[in-house]
Amino acid sequence: MRYVSTRGQAHALGFSDVLLAGLARDGGLFVPESWPQMSTQDVADLAGRPYADVAFEIVRPFIGGEIPDDELRRICVSTYASFRHEAVAPLVQLAPGRWIMELFHGPTFAFKDIAMQLLARLMDHVLAKRGSRATIVGATSGDTGAAAIEAFRGRNNVDVFILFPEGRISPIQRRQMTTAEADNVHAIAVSGTFDDCQAIVKELFGNIGFRERTALAGVNSINWARILGQIVYYFTAAVALGAPGRPIAFTVPTGNFGNVFAGYAAKRMGLPVAKLVVATNVNDILARTLETGEYRVGPVTATTSPSMDIQVSSNFERLLFEVYDRDGVAVAGLMDELKRTGGFVLSQGALERVRSDFEGGRADEAETAAELSAIYRGTGFLADPHTAVGLAVARRLAEPGVPMVGLATAHAAKFPEAVTAATGVNVGVPRQLAGIMDKPERFVTLANDRAAIEAHIVHNTRAIAEKV
Ligand SMILES: *Cc1c(COP(=O)(O)O)cnc(C)c1O
Repeated sequence: MRYVSTRGQAHALGFSDVLLAGLARDGGLFVPESWPQMSTQDVADLAGRPYADVAFEIVRPFIGGEIPDDELRRICVSTYASFRHEAVAPLVQLAPGRWIMELFHGPTFAFKDIAMQLLARLMDHVLAKRGSRATIVGATSGDTGAAAIEAFRGRNNVDVFILFPEGRISPIQRRQMTTAEADNVHAIAVSGTFDDCQAIVKELFGNIGFRERTALAGVNSINWARILGQIVYYFTAAVALGAPGRPIAFTVPTGNFGNVFAGYAAKRMGLPVAKLVVATNVNDILARTLETGEYRVGPVTATTSPSMDIQVSSNFERLLFEVYDRDGVAVAGLMDELKRTGGFVLSQGALERVRSDFEGGRADEAETAAELSAIYRGTGFLADPHTAVGLAVARRLAEPGVPMVGLATAHAAKFPEAVTAATGVNVGVPRQLAGIMDKPERFVTLANDRAAIEAHIVHNTRAIAEKV
């Protein structure tokens, strides 16, 4: 299996190189050169099997033989052994034909663990085999940084540096990053905003000398392995509800388009997916694009579902590549127009193809709170605000006879204020989260200054053999 860039100008690479590279040299995102196919029988055979087994079957064809089967199987088993629920991604019924899939049973109580835990093990394995090390650098406004630190802490071949905006994330989110007891974890509070943090990370990746010297690697959702790890649960949910015998619909609270793109990948591999609902909060660039055909960046508004407060959905580029018949020049043109003018218009053919697989919708803050409350009153289930956005949008788009699965992307306890405001319920803090409130914190505070952060990374990473 080789991977090509969505912008058509970079060399095709194998899985291990794609895992470490993150972004392609031409600025594009890597996608598999073809979609592995599962027959109806292959899909049927997944029913009732342990999650790690299904993960092995789905992930295997994408590795292209670069990791031996017995090793890959061990990695899948170890990855999902770190989850608190035996089913890993259990289904809960809300009403006839309406389900949710709980994706928050990983160590940080958000769905990012499902792919990040796998990615970290795959990366450590590839680096060990090559006898090399890497430096992970990322910026976070909350969930991604915690998931990355939890996944990489204690791993031999990787040092992880996470930048977060000082004083601008919740105490729980900060403590999830600063209480990891591992020498290879470096949490950095930056005196600035999330955008400042992200800008510095971009500059670090743009500095070729620094990037090569520190063997810089990225783990944000443009890394193909993040998508790969998320394809699996679309299969486990669908077969549990009757696939391949009947099609299943999913509603996905969407920010960077990574999660819902994994659903699309499952469909391309042969899973009968009736529709994928792209659910956004008021930061609705994707819902607007589906409605009008115009992808246009607007201002970002803070909401109770902060992981979806995004106006540029990086992974949408992967879908553009597909609906433009894998024409990298066309995609590069659209991305260039986006950079110059803040938007672009999809061709009629491309828009029709997007609409044949996806439906979009948005839920504002009042609708999200009303949904949270309705779900709680109707079923006793406490949804988090991201999950509630997905459920609210799906209510308008469900079809009789087609099960609709809402992806529950975070545990309600991560967003207690919004959940309590909507339901009146005082959300308890799970034991595992409560523990971090008493642990000592370890982080440095640095100026909003690329050079200072660069120096800190150079000083602390083990990826550089000789230091001056
Ligand atoms: C990251 C995140 C999302 C958005 O997922 P994308 O893959 O970026 O679309 C939704 N909900 C929660 C809780 C998240 O952490």
